[in-house]
Amino acid sequence: MRIKQNVNKDVIDELYEEGYLYAAFGEYWRRTRGYKMFKIPVDADFLCPNWDGRLSNRGCTYCPGLGKEVGRPTFFEVQGKSVRAQLDHQIEYHRGKGVAEKFMAYFYPATNTYRRVTELEKLFEEAISHPDVIGLSIGTRPDCVPDEILDVLEGYTKRGYEVWIELGQQTYHYHTIEKINRRHGIAECIDATGRIKEHGIFVCDHIILGLPYETPGEMIETARILSVVGVDAVKIYPLLVMKGTRIAGEFSAGKYRPIAFTEYINLVCDFLENLSPYVLIQRLSKDCGLQLKLAPEWNTFRLNVSSRIEKELKRRGTKQGVRYKMGLGEVELFPLNGGIKPVPAINASVSCNF
Ligand code: SF4
Repeated sequence: MRIKQNVNKDVIDELYEEGYLYAAFGEYWRRTRGYKMFKIPVDADFLCPNWDGRLSNRGCTYCPGLGKEVGRPTFFEVQGKSVRAQLDHQIEYHRGKGVAEKFMAYFYPATNTYRRVTELEKLFEEAISHPDVIGLSIGTRPDCVPDEILDVLEGYTKRGYEVWIELGQQTYHYHTIEKINRRHGIAECIDATGRIKEHGIFVCDHIILGLPYETPGEMIETARILSVVGVDAVKIYPLLVMKGTRIAGEFSAGKYRPIAFTEYINLVCDFLENLSPYVLIQRLSKDCGLQLKLAPEWNTFRLNVSSRIEKELKRRGTKQGVRYKMGLGEVELFPLNGGIKPVPAINASVSCNF
């Protein structure tokens, strides 16, 4: 059974009619909610079961240690302070810049559901009690969303808050998941997405393009799979090789080749063409700052990359979803060649003795 998305497809159709080449999340939000929204990153000092020994003590091969080192200066200025203090400081800054009218608390470094429910409730309540916060976006792993936590989050949706879960999915190919030591399977991803949707919560998948030993065809198949499991939005990134990570060691030893700029642009365009037109696009790239980054050598800053992607889509004369198709349609189930049967390769009258 195909799991339903929660998005408003009519609004997305409107965007395409007006010339948008992909389902741009920011514009979709403004039209469906009536205001501009910005996500404020919040570090509530979560750990990760892939670092602390519960699943492994090595982390994902590309993880720079819980991901706390990646963010804007305004985020670092208040890291370690209370949830409320982090929100106050950053909301004041971003409102001053005219970035948005309302804000969502984005719990993101590490695994933001890796605590007992009672502790999570306290943190999430502290965030939504802020007068300018309209909801929560929670970054976590697909194997860390038990129903007890989803029940609590569903409660917020019933009180009128927006709730999104951002799943660190990265790929829908098991051999890659093993290679990068994520320590969960594909089954957890599909199961988590279905249960999150049943609780009325939106799902945004994080997908990395350029993971080791993954072919372009597999990355495109990831677009097709996430389209049918009911994901509402996606964030797409190139794999960033950060200093001190295990992938950095593979890169230095010549065992990992980072994705090139034109390769990434073309791959994202192929990915978008094969993605359902109704999956919202939250990001098309990501940066981690020069201090941390070893590779790729090109500028991965999202505005630089998204403009090139739009240019390439225009050059191709395509847009998101143009190649999205699942199997043959009813009309295509009409046999070609007037129904001529192929000549059997083996003479069926020859008996087989073994
Ligand atoms: S799940 Fe996230 S925080 Fe945990 S090791 Fe992997 S990338 Fe790092």
